[in-house]
Amino acid sequence: MNPKLSNRINAMATSATLAMAAKARELRNEGKDIIGLSLGEPDFNVPDFVKKAAVNAVNENYHSYTPVDGYADLKQAIITKFKRDNHLTYTPTQIVVSTGAKQSLANLAMVLLNEGDEVLLPAPYWVSYSDISKLAGGVPVEIPTSIESDFKITPKSLEAAITSKTKMMIYSSPCNPSGSVYSEKELRALADVLVNYPDIIVVSDEIYEHINFTEIHASMATFDDMYDRTVVVNGVSKAYSMTGWRIGYIGGPEWIARACNKMQGQITSGANCIAQRATITALESSPKKIQFMVDAFKERRTLILDLLAEIPGFKTNIPQGAFYVFPDISYYFGKTLNGTTINNASDLSMYLLERANVATVTGEAFGNPNCIRISYAASEENILEALKRIKEAVT
Ligand code: PMP
Ligand code: GLU
Repeated sequence: MNPKLSNRINAMATSATLAMAAKARELRNEGKDIIGLSLGEPDFNVPDFVKKAAVNAVNENYHSYTPVDGYADLKQAIITKFKRDNHLTYTPTQIVVSTGAKQSLANLAMVLLNEGDEVLLPAPYWVSYSDISKLAGGVPVEIPTSIESDFKITPKSLEAAITSKTKMMIYSSPCNPSGSVYSEKELRALADVLVNYPDIIVVSDEIYEHINFTEIHASMATFDDMYDRTVVVNGVSKAYSMTGWRIGYIGGPEWIARACNKMQGQITSGANCIAQRATITALESSPKKIQFMVDAFKERRTLILDLLAEIPGFKTNIPQGAFYVFPDISYYFGKTLNGTTINNASDLSMYLLERANVATVTGEAFGNPNCIRISYAASEENILEALKRIKEAVT
C-alpha cells in the first residue's frame, strides 16, 4: 500500500493467476525447473490459417486506428458466429470488440455499476470478476456452492442472494475454475428466478464455449425473456489459442453496447488491427477445425483426474469443460509437510511451488478457500511429471 497512489489501486488485489505465472517465470529464469500449471493458456500454436490471415493483414497495410467497437466485417463475422453456434441474433450496434474478454468485462462493470451496486458471483468464479466489479464501485456478493453440487448454484441459492441493490450477475459456463457446465434446463431454472427481478443484468462469460465435453453449450441469452438483459462475453483466447492477440467481444442490448463503445473510446480505442483481421478468419472457420484441441483437452482431463485420484486429500468434481481441475485440498489444513505447516490453500499452493516446482493457483482468489486450481492446458508429459511431483511432495 502506497499512500501516494490512489485508493482505487491500493484497494485492488493483484491478479492471482498472472502473479503466479510471473513468479513461475521468475523462478524459471533463476534456473529452476518449474512446471507451470497456473495460467489458463492453451499450449497449442495458433492455427496456421489464422496466422496466415494475420500475415496477409500486415502485407495489406492494415495499420491505422480501428473503429472503436471493431471493424464492420469483424462485427459481421461475430454476428454470423452467434447465429451459427448459439442461435442468437444481433445487429452490428449490439456488438463491441475489445482488447480481450477481460476488457469486455471491465467495460461492462464500468458502464453498468454505481457505487454500492451488488454483483452476484456464483463461487468459485473467475479471479478478475470481483476486482473488476470493485474497481467500478460494485460490491461482490458471492453465492456459495459445494463440490457435491458440481460447484453450481441453484434457483434457491440465487434467490437468497438477491437484494434491492443487486445490479448484475457474472458467471462463466464452462466455468473457470471449476469446469462446471450449466445445462439449458439449469439455466432456465435460474432464469425463472431472474425474470422476477427485471433490473438485474446478466453477464454470461462464454469464453470456454468450445471447450465443452458435454458437447452442448447453453446460453441464458437464448431465452426470449432474458435476451434483453443478458450480455454474452466471448473471445478468441481459448478456442483459437490466441491469448496474446487480445481480442474479446460482447453481444448484448444496444444501450449497453453503445455505452461500452463510449467507455472504450476514452480508454483504449479500437482493438489491434492485425489481430482483428485474423479473428475474422478464425470465427468464419468451422469449429471442427479446433476439435483436435478439444479432444486433446478431454484426454488430458482423464489423465489428470486419474492421477489426482491417487493422491490423498485431493477431492475433485468431474469438470465438463474448460481446462482446469479445482480440487478441495482442505484435508491438508493444519498438517505439516516436510516442516511446512499448511494452514490454507495459499500455503499449499506456495508449498507445491517451492517443494515440487509446480505452479498452481490458490482457490482463495476464485472465492473458494478450500481449493487450488490446476490447469491441464499443458502437455501430457508435463501433467504426468507435475502430478508425480505433487504426490511426492504431499505423501
Ligand atoms: N473470462 C474467463 C472465464 C477467463 O478464463 C479469461 C482468461 N483468459 C477471460 C475471461 C479473459 O480472457 P481474454 O484473454 O480474452 O482477456
Ligand atoms: N484466464 C486465464 C486464467 O484464468 C489467464 C490469466 C488471466 O487473464 O487472468 O488463468
